[in-house]
Amino acid sequence: MQNCISHIKTTLGTHYSASEINSFIRIIFESVCGYTLTDLILHKNTILSDSTRKQIDKIVERIDQNEPIQYILGKCRFCGITFSVTPDVLIPRPETEEMVELIATRHFGTNPRILDIGTGSGCIAVSLAKKIQKSDVDAWDISENALQIARKNAQENNVTVTFEQIDIIQESPQINRQYDIIVSNPPYVCLNEKADMEKNVLDYEPHLALFVPNEDPLLFYRLILQAGRRLLTDNGYIYFEINRKFGNETAALLQTNGYEKIEIIQDISGNDRIITARLKR
Ligand code: GLN
Repeated sequence: MQNCISHIKTTLGTHYSASEINSFIRIIFESVCGYTLTDLILHKNTILSDSTRKQIDKIVERIDQNEPIQYILGKCRFCGITFSVTPDVLIPRPETEEMVELIATRHFGTNPRILDIGTGSGCIAVSLAKKIQKSDVDAWDISENALQIARKNAQENNVTVTFEQIDIIQESPQINRQYDIIVSNPPYVCLNEKADMEKNVLDYEPHLALFVPNEDPLLFYRLILQAGRRLLTDNGYIYFEINRKFGNETAALLQTNGYEKIEIIQDISGNDRIITARLKR
């Protein structure tokens, strides 16, 4: 096994940091051999079978080509829950976990109707359904392929979420239901930010879920908060994950559209990342 680990370190060492490589090693051995961190130390002199070694080499080769490990394994962890992922959905991010934790803390013990717009893998909808036990969660996405993954994730995590294919740009959904909370992590990366992005994101993750035109970066926020005027109950809440560059603009948009108690919240790296507001009626 030590052989295998040094092979991983030399192969990936040219373009990944030591801490990234250590986390790859941990994830690879956990998924291929079922090893915990302690097992990794206990088994350090274990001889790996040929088939295990081949399996690991294949994974390492793909990581070396910048393919995200979450797509290679088809799984990732989010809010302590395992989610299936494919290139049809964005890989859930730690910033989004922070938004889910915030909503779960603020609304814990209540029974809100929640709508997640642009659900992707379903990570927000499924985690909220799990964390706020009496909630009633609906989730929309434009992509039927994404919805298939999201449905699978709800099922595998034993929660009920009602999924629907809706394109928020084309349709002003004629929904009679109202929600206490609307949450969304819509596409928010401007096309001109491409140059600053990592290859593993740019070459593998769905552009449909990432990008907005340079000239209208708040496109989805505007549509959602306008729809929110009909879809939210009196004093219902909006939670958005945002591009750190547009905190103030998004806040202004909320204010001009009749929302109050607007708060911009920073993520763990100190960037403006979440915005929340309440509909004023
Ligand atoms: N946070 C993601 C990124 O860093 C983008 C998510 C989004 O566009 N909603 O690529």
